[in-house]
Amino acid sequence: MMRFDILTIFPNIFNSYFAESIIKRAQKKDIIKIRIHDIRKHAKDKHKTTDDTCYGGGPGMVMKIEPIYNTLKSIKKKKKSLTILLSPQGQKFNQKKAKQLSKYEQLILICGRYEGVDERVRKYLINEEISIGDYVLTGGEIPAMVILDSVTRLIPGVVGKKESIEYESFENNLLDFPHYTKPENFKGWKVPKILLSGDHAKVEEWRRRKALTNTKKKRKDLLPKN
Ligand code: SAM
Repeated sequence: MMRFDILTIFPNIFNSYFAESIIKRAQKKDIIKIRIHDIRKHAKDKHKTTDDTCYGGGPGMVMKIEPIYNTLKSIKKKKKSLTILLSPQGQKFNQKKAKQLSKYEQLILICGRYEGVDERVRKYLINEEISIGDYVLTGGEIPAMVILDSVTRLIPGVVGKKESIEYESFENNLLDFPHYTKPENFKGWKVPKILLSGDHAKVEEWRRRKALTNTKKKRKDLLPKN
């Protein structure tokens, strides 16, 4: 079973997303276990402070190291465990990285807020720093959900035939082929005839070709260079 431990000061953000669809089923089937840790509960002072002003001056608050350290200490570590700081400065996340992460037994995800976390968290408490893209969000909670979702669907037994991951985008350096469903004709916009032919070999060939043209058109950078 893969375990996700998420450290946050906004624990309620996750409730509805994790209680639906594939992520809900994966938990029910005991394929994944999610634990949300409220960093504030691990702040020792009277006011449960999790952030403070920045040494050297300047605007904005910085998340303190002690409550994060205490929260991490309260988490039981599995053998194959990775502690990740969500940060716009990290290595950019992609499907290849999701595959790598899906091989772990435990992912510990630290969500920053405000100006981010005290630099000593980055230096002493984590294994990796991951960004979900070159833009700045208000917190690490959405990036944590992105990682949990994309990693979970790669774990065997999570995705059924209905949502098969076999031919998905980024497999074999290609984007997915186009999909159609009923009706055959909507306002004169028709489904390609070949898909209605019942000729499986021809359909396969069409899909392979479309995946390639799709990739050439939209994401040439994915194709091998020669
Ligand atoms: N001052 C930081 C900087 O410029 O690098 C940005 C802090 S951001 C407003 C607050 C938190 O949101 C970060 O600590 C991080 O946890 C999260 N975050 C924002 N953008 C992110 C991204 N693209 N990928 C991952 N986490 C992100």
